[in-house]
Amino acid sequence: MEAADERVTPLMAQYIEIKTANPDCLLFYRMGDFYEMFFEDAELASRALGIALTKRGKHKGADIPMAGVPVERANDYLQRLIAQGFRVAVCEQLEDPAEARKRGSKSVVKRDVIRLVTPGTITEEQLLDSRRNNWLLAVARARPSSAEAASFGLAWADISTGAFHVAEVGGGRLAAEVARLDPGEIVIADALYSDTDLAPFWREQRAVTPLGRDLFDAMTAERRLAGFFGIATADAFGVFSRLELTAAAAIAGYIERTQVGKRPPLAPPQREALGETMAIDAATRVNLELLRALSGTRQGSLITAIDRTVTAAGARLLADRLSSPLADSAAVNARLDAVAWVVADGDLRQALRRTLETAPDIERALARLALGRGGPRDLFALARGLTVAADLARTVAARAPPAEIAAATHDLAAPDPAVAAVIDAALADELPLLKRDGGFVRAGYDADLDGLRRLSEDSRRVIAETQARYAEETAVKSLKVRHNAQLGYVVEVAAQHGDKLLGPPFNATFMHRQTLAGALRFSTVELSELESKIATAAERARAIELAVFEQLVTRVLDQGDAIKAAARALAVLDVTTALATLAATEDWTRPVVDASLAFRISGGRHPVVEQALRRDGGPFVANDCDLSPPTPAGDAGRLWLITGPNMAGKSTFLRQNALIAVLAQIGAFVPAKSAHIGVVDRLFSRVGAADDLARGRSTFMVEMVETAAILNQAGPRALVILDEIGRGTATFDGLSIAWASLEHLHETNRCRTLFATHFHELTALSTRLKRLKNATVRVKEWHGEVIFLHEVAEGMADRSYGIQVAKLAGLPAAVVARAKVVLAELEKSDRGAPIHRLADDLPLFAALRPKAAEPASAAAPDPVAELLAALDPDDMTPKDALEALYRLKAAA
Ligand code: ADP
Repeated sequence: MEAADERVTPLMAQYIEIKTANPDCLLFYRMGDFYEMFFEDAELASRALGIALTKRGKHKGADIPMAGVPVERANDYLQRLIAQGFRVAVCEQLEDPAEARKRGSKSVVKRDVIRLVTPGTITEEQLLDSRRNNWLLAVARARPSSAEAASFGLAWADISTGAFHVAEVGGGRLAAEVARLDPGEIVIADALYSDTDLAPFWREQRAVTPLGRDLFDAMTAERRLAGFFGIATADAFGVFSRLELTAAAAIAGYIERTQVGKRPPLAPPQREALGETMAIDAATRVNLELLRALSGTRQGSLITAIDRTVTAAGARLLADRLSSPLADSAAVNARLDAVAWVVADGDLRQALRRTLETAPDIERALARLALGRGGPRDLFALARGLTVAADLARTVAARAPPAEIAAATHDLAAPDPAVAAVIDAALADELPLLKRDGGFVRAGYDADLDGLRRLSEDSRRVIAETQARYAEETAVKSLKVRHNAQLGYVVEVAAQHGDKLLGPPFNATFMHRQTLAGALRFSTVELSELESKIATAAERARAIELAVFEQLVTRVLDQGDAIKAAARALAVLDVTTALATLAATEDWTRPVVDASLAFRISGGRHPVVEQALRRDGGPFVANDCDLSPPTPAGDAGRLWLITGPNMAGKSTFLRQNALIAVLAQIGAFVPAKSAHIGVVDRLFSRVGAADDLARGRSTFMVEMVETAAILNQAGPRALVILDEIGRGTATFDGLSIAWASLEHLHETNRCRTLFATHFHELTALSTRLKRLKNATVRVKEWHGEVIFLHEVAEGMADRSYGIQVAKLAGLPAAVVARAKVVLAELEKSDRGAPIHRLADDLPLFAALRPKAAEPASAAAPDPVAELLAALDPDDMTPKDALEALYRLKAAA
């Protein structure tokens, strides 16, 4: 029937309405124990999760595709969907299905979206990396009509910890800031998303969510932000620029939208003055492998080599600090004082570490509780964390700590100790994950609850007694009282005793309900009454437990700010202790950091390479580096031009100096005998090159784009690391570009620079460029083999040893021998002599031709001798030997 097919069931009508309101999300539509997805969502999810695609009813005559995930395992599936870039709207049943039935048979259970799950707004432990902050970043741009150059307002928050920051940056620094924060999700206005200049940049980011104009409206931003925090005016936060307010209000609006009215305990936004941090652009971060190795994993990165933290919050803080080294020497020294204080006292270090190890992640527990997603274990974690904080405060306060630690100690002691005490008193020893499972309130905490629990325990005894009585009355010894999900408490007897209970006088008491294969089941009025008494008691007990839970949460949230400060202080102590442990165990030293232009490192090491070598058994060779101005009062630092063969250790040396600067400026000790560093305000590094095919740029293009950024932006406080620029093009082009860049760095940028090159010609520049110094990584030649000493010394490389290195790499012996011949010829004829003439003079090596075709010219070396020289009998199989014989014969 046509008309019937067109009819939409009430359930589908509700589904479609909710789905239409959330078009950009997969809709998890709650039906009983499952979240179901329909139509296209079902198809997408089934592909993304590898779950079965089924059908449920028809819509407009066609089958409705359906796929579902069990509610109990929803977090696993959510995690996988978020990782694949989906956004998910979670739609719950808002009433008991019985309520809906009361309204009429056609009535559907009320449902609505209670939360949008997006990459930047998750709070569940399973969905998050406990060792990294998960930033939600909003970017607002000044109206394009404004005359000045574009600037951007940034606001970033981690709703799983409550951290919230704002800043304003010039257009040139946007990419560097985004790289620094490495956000889980970026929200921007539609117009900014489709901006032609920025579109490629957004495409490179992990998850970018364009939003309607209203969330980015500058006019209403202040009011919306004040509304979010429930205060009269945003002035209370301090002075923010219009752009900062706009971005912050967008964050607040997006959180309200995704959390559907629930408010995470965000700290008031804090302005971050970007001048206070070292600027490091995205390419440099990648090259230096600060948080991730080039392979994309944590393994092999600087953070893995230095992370000795023992708490998740400490690990997050360390990662934050490593992303944002300071550019203010006073702030750096305050941190260094703290680390030095812990380094100096081995007992203290041990004590702090042991106590910190027991501290749970209270930041994230607090956020979950505030969002109504917390459970009894979160409360327990909080109480435990606060107790640890109070312990630490006592340990530390007794020892006259430096300023940074004294401030942390103050924060550790700030939360009201009664909170932890109340939670400890209220919670049982064994806790369920979910509050609705009950049983988490300690016996003796609430008299009513104890009474109800006694009742239900009593009932168990009463049931046992009833069973015994029934068994006696009926003389059926095997009679049992059992509980059944549908029937409640029933009397069960084996089939052979059934007739007895079905007949008088017992049929007056025992009502037959069910016949199974070997047994019969009966109910009794007495049992039903008991049942409802037990059920009411359980329900009331549950209500009391939930009320206790809510009271505890309220107590906690009242102390929210103090708890957040304590959590933060715990993280500071953990990072400080971790850096001190690292310094003590790895023999690192405190760097001198000041406002000079010095850069003097003696006995510097590369922390990652050193640790890798230690595992492989080799020693790391420490090296000095001095880029300080030639005279103490000089206004510009030195440039080192480093030559040396491949594999000698040039890249390692370059990077280790950059890493030492980064480490010093996060306030860590450094892997060196001594280090004096005048604050570096921008760090640039161009090391190696990988084809950036995703962006459709060749290696050379990428290299030039990055070099251009350096030459345009580096000032006298910058530290520049350049490795092999100009390698990606023809020799003379490359040499000229490297030459001109070096002059520009010396004359115009005047910044401290390490410049590694294979163009030995550049070493001649040191006679003209006064602050340029030649250095080389030394090698020794021994019986035609090259030995790497990994020692950086004044001077220049005599040659490149490329062929020796190629031989080490396992190039076929024949090719190595041939290359030697070609090189000898090239060196004989003046370098740069027309290559085509050489090609004529050096006829194709006979060994490379399976069959000798042309007769060797008289000028060429004897092909048989050449072929013989290339043979390595130790490296030949009998078959190789036979083939070589044939070739020799052919060449003769
Ligand atoms: P280059 O850049 O000159 O080609 P690398 O810096 O990549 O050379 O170094 C090559 C290898 O040499 C490294 O992987 C490391 O194992 C080793 N190496 C480098 N520097 C040192 C050093 N100072 N001490 C010991 N081994 C080193």
